[in-house]
Amino acid sequence: MCVTCGCGDEAGTRITEVFEESQGQPRQGDHGRAGGHGHTHGNAHDSSPERTRTVPLEQQVLAKNDKLAMANRVWLTERAVLAVNLMSSPGAGKTTLLERTVRELGQRAPVSVIEGDQETLFDADRIRAAGSRVVQINTGRGCHLDAEMVGSALRTLDPPSASVVFIENVGNLVCPALFDLGEDSKVVIMSVTEGADKPLKYPHMFRAADLVLLNKVDLLPYVDFDLVRFLADAGRVNPHVEVLQISATKGTGMRAWHDWLCRQVAGAADTAAR
Ligand code: MG
Ligand code: ZN
Repeated sequence: MCVTCGCGDEAGTRITEVFEESQGQPRQGDHGRAGGHGHTHGNAHDSSPERTRTVPLEQQVLAKNDKLAMANRVWLTERAVLAVNLMSSPGAGKTTLLERTVRELGQRAPVSVIEGDQETLFDADRIRAAGSRVVQINTGRGCHLDAEMVGSALRTLDPPSASVVFIENVGNLVCPALFDLGEDSKVVIMSVTEGADKPLKYPHMFRAADLVLLNKVDLLPYVDFDLVRFLADAGRVNPHVEVLQISATKGTGMRAWHDWLCRQVAGAADTAAR
């Protein structure tokens, strides 16, 4: 979990304070730390105010986020705008995919982009050069986008009806999975240079995905990537997930990606019409 940005999976978080033998005695008047050796006094520690204090705070953060995400969802539905949340580790190819998607899909549906990075306008500049309207969110120390940031960016973008908004999340395979942005779909991009073990190492991210794009498949002959294992593990973590093999630099698999997007656009229009 990331303490600095206040996010966390309160159900799955484990914090174990390990003391040196010589420091293992409770400090005078420090009731919250009574016991000292965390591994032998786990239950006492679990109920100490110091250990549990962060949990309600995180629940509040996520509950507030969920409310704002719902408001974003209503806002998007009213306008029949499809929002796609793109998540990956840094360097998997989100921005390169978006550059190509903007150029190629832009002729079929209006596209705009919300860029998330800790610092710089580098990616926003690339997206604008590719021909799309773009708003950059710099999160500073934060390691994910949340619904409030995206709500502000959406109002700034003011996307036209029946268009697509891509939200490029901060490069991080962990906490972006926890934060609902009000998007229609979550797409996880993973590249073959990262190793086939990621679905099992980062199951929350792969479980949250509606679609997984396996990028840089043009590099498969040059890297040690077990494709069979990757597909099996992705399916084990998320039995309903669709996986498309693409190369955003070479253009491989783009037709299947665009077709998938067009099905989502049609779905968003149906929802809006109801
Ligand atoms: Mg990027
Ligand atoms: Zn975070």
